[in-house]
Amino acid sequence: MPIYEYRCKNCGKEFEVLQKVDDPPVVTCKYCQGEASRIISLTNFQLKGTGWYATDYKDKGKKEAERKGDKEKKAEGKEGAKDS
Ligand SMILES: [Zn+2]
Repeated sequence: MPIYEYRCKNCGKEFEVLQKVDDPPVVTCKYCQGEASRIISLTNFQLKGTGWYATDYKDKGKKEAERKGDKEKKAEGKEGAKDS
């Protein structure tokens, strides 16, 4: 669950709220019970986050795949040699 930042329209205080992605972007201020609205679009944050992880995962996955591929090729070659 992502954490969203809210600013109270009534008292102006900012606080973070852990919400489901599909929860409405309006919450009750925890200080004054006024209406608070989301102040940062997490789009930027999420893009950064997923981008970083995606890159990391991709590099890791690629290296592992290459390694695996080499192993499999060698194994196949051995087996092939045995068969013939
Ligand atoms: Zn408030």
